[in-house]
Amino acid sequence: MKALVKTKKGKGFLEIKEMRVPEINYDEVLIKVHYTGICGTDVHIFTGQFPIYYPPVILGHEFSGEIVKLGEKVTSWKTGDRVVGECQSLVCGKCRFCRTGHPEACAAKRSPGWGIDGSFADYIKMPSWLLHKIPDNVSYREAALTEPAAVSSQSLYSRAKVSTGDFVVVLGTGPIGIIIAKMAKIAGASQVLITGINKDEKYRLLLAQKLGIENTVNVSKVNLKEMVDDLTDGIGADLVVEATGVEPAINQAFDIVRKLGKIAVIGVPGQSRLNVNWSAGSFKALDLCFSFSSQYEDWTRVLKLFENHSLDLTDLVTHEFELADWKMAFDKTIDCQGGKILFKI
Ligand SMILES: [Zn+2]
Ligand SMILES: [Zn+2]
Repeated sequence: MKALVKTKKGKGFLEIKEMRVPEINYDEVLIKVHYTGICGTDVHIFTGQFPIYYPPVILGHEFSGEIVKLGEKVTSWKTGDRVVGECQSLVCGKCRFCRTGHPEACAAKRSPGWGIDGSFADYIKMPSWLLHKIPDNVSYREAALTEPAAVSSQSLYSRAKVSTGDFVVVLGTGPIGIIIAKMAKIAGASQVLITGINKDEKYRLLLAQKLGIENTVNVSKVNLKEMVDDLTDGIGADLVVEATGVEPAINQAFDIVRKLGKIAVIGVPGQSRLNVNWSAGSFKALDLCFSFSSQYEDWTRVLKLFENHSLDLTDLVTHEFELADWKMAFDKTIDCQGGKILFKI
């Protein structure tokens, strides 16, 4: 099969290669990939900035597909089933985190796309216990967004626990920011603002509007602090979601959140040490909710929201590429001139 492979560590070293179709063991299934999305993780591995990966490895972890082969002990699935899969393919099963329902935090975790072969290929193998059925009325194309939506659900619902009536500001207008803004509306936020900078003005802020987030703000042109103060009688936002990983935006979060408010952190900075207004956090007695990956309940929640049309992300997919055109697809992702970009396999 054809696959997009990171062949060795460093910047670049990504190429289409002929690879063997994965062999499955007794509790795994083989999945024919239908759609698979490009995530920041794939880009960071491409550019050599991701902290851990084990080349040669097929990239990609956001996918939807169809089961074509079952391991001999798999009884709960059949060939032809339409599925998506959680990412923690290999975990120890014995550590504190595995045993308390957090396999995503297992130190031995290996996930598709960096730790083991991923979904930028004709086929991927998955442990059967990580699969979720795609509802009949949800297309493969939309289902390929389950993983980024589950990660968003983990941040907003499971960790930050957004409340009905909250005044929510989402900093960053990438796919995750837009999904979180939509999820905040579903949860009954009183207002949802999403922010971008000048480079987002021509594309991503308009895309957010197209997806139903009316209140878009270009913070390169508008003083966000003044705007939030005006809209909240000087109190500040109940919840700020930081989805950029960029230092000025992180400081903006501390600036615009109200006393006793919350900051949900999902953006990952390029550097580990930041110059942050930490004392504002103390004086405001803030809750800081970091988050990564997702859990079972996020996946079932997202699939239900897709099924009942509460969460419609159809328009978030702005481009589809063949795997052979991966360079164009990655360039578009890096330039931020698209929403979610998918490979149709
Ligand atoms: Zn992802
Ligand atoms: Zn473990």
